Amino acid sequence: MAKSSLHCSFCGRSRDEVKILIAGQEGHICENCVEHAREIIDQELHIKPDHNPNFKLSVKKPIEIKKFLDEYVIGQDDAKKVLAVAVYNHYKRLQHKTSESDIEIEKSNIIMVGETGTGKTLLAKTIARLLNVPFAIVDATVFTEAGYVGEDVESILTRLLQVCNYDVAAAEKGIVYIDELDKIARKGDNPSITRDVSGEGVQQGLLKLLEGTEVLVPPQGGRKHPEQKLIKINTQNILFVCGGAFDGIDKLIARRVNTNSIGFNVNKEVQEHMKKNLLQYVNAQDLKGFGLIPELLGRLPVVTYLNPLDAVTLRAILTEPKNSLMRQYKKLFELEGIELIVDDNVLDFMVAKAVEYKLGARGLRSICENILTDAMFEMPSSNQKKFHLTLEYTQHKFDKSRMSLLKVA
Ligand code: ADP
Repeated sequence: MAKSSLHCSFCGRSRDEVKILIAGQEGHICENCVEHAREIIDQELHIKPDHNPNFKLSVKKPIEIKKFLDEYVIGQDDAKKVLAVAVYNHYKRLQHKTSESDIEIEKSNIIMVGETGTGKTLLAKTIARLLNVPFAIVDATVFTEAGYVGEDVESILTRLLQVCNYDVAAAEKGIVYIDELDKIARKGDNPSITRDVSGEGVQQGLLKLLEGTEVLVPPQGGRKHPEQKLIKINTQNILFVCGGAFDGIDKLIARRVNTNSIGFNVNKEVQEHMKKNLLQYVNAQDLKGFGLIPELLGRLPVVTYLNPLDAVTLRAILTEPKNSLMRQYKKLFELEGIELIVDDNVLDFMVAKAVEYKLGARGLRSICENILTDAMFEMPSSNQKKFHLTLEYTQHKFDKSRMSLLKVA
């Protein structure tokens, strides 16, 4: 069959072989070549606006951000406020840049200090969900100084690339949560003369990322090697949120706060209150004392804290968040056509055990699992329509479980 004389001037396909042929002054272009040309433009200009429909940044006002966080995270009001403002300013800054105004707003990377299991990761994750940006969690302890065994710091960005399917433009607006930042603190306040494999070198590496430069990232993570094709990522607009328990930092805070209050007329009551809630006074100076290098702290200007979880908060965590443990279990049972009824004193019991065994919020989940596993094992094969979780049943299952071995002295 003779080919139609109309054809795409770029790929040469004839009218019959394509769906659309757009006419220009001297030639035509088909839909395939238009697509292809668009990809080239995106790559060259490095802007893929809304390319990945899964990640369409939606900026909310600080009050809205806090409200959203309230739905998932209990308490931690100070941290929520600080985060909401920092995140809002960060993404405002992105929009500001595009308007090419000459005042450059600095990035507001964040450090959160608080015991493990108090909601640091949850806060960062929830914010990323709200803003609809790629989010990656990495652990600072897996990185080592270049030349040592371990992962290169750049592989932090590999995780971010992976979650957005290697969409560089989306990754460049993402949020990275770096956990256990305290574990890469320099040991002792003095710079050591010997090389410090896990500490300062890694901090220097991180500094490079936080500074907002172009970084070459190994697409598969791990260590870079010579033949590998590397992906260039600009970190200027990536928001870094770091978290750590910083065990013992309260002593540094106490020392500083005490020194500062000499000469001021601080009454006993105020002093007592300050002593109990020392973490709320944490600042960059304390973190430096703990062993973070000043340059790194300079790139992490927003410092906030999380409160330890008390029994009242743990109780609320069980039932109040949008995807609280109790709601999740109720849903699981519901999917089997079974209504799960949980007595109030069962919740009190679970909280009491989490406190007694010092298991925190994470422990609540294992406690629930231990109590409900037998029921979840048998229910799908039974015809029951209702399961009533009583205190008696709960106590019996808990005592039989291996959880009692976990008790911390
Ligand atoms: P961290 O990062 O501080 O070690 P996470 O954020 O990973 O702790 O918390 C562990 C789990 O405990 C979370 O997944 C969540 O289920 C629960 N949790 C901790 N703190 C809170 C909180 N304030 N509100 C709701 N859930 C919480």
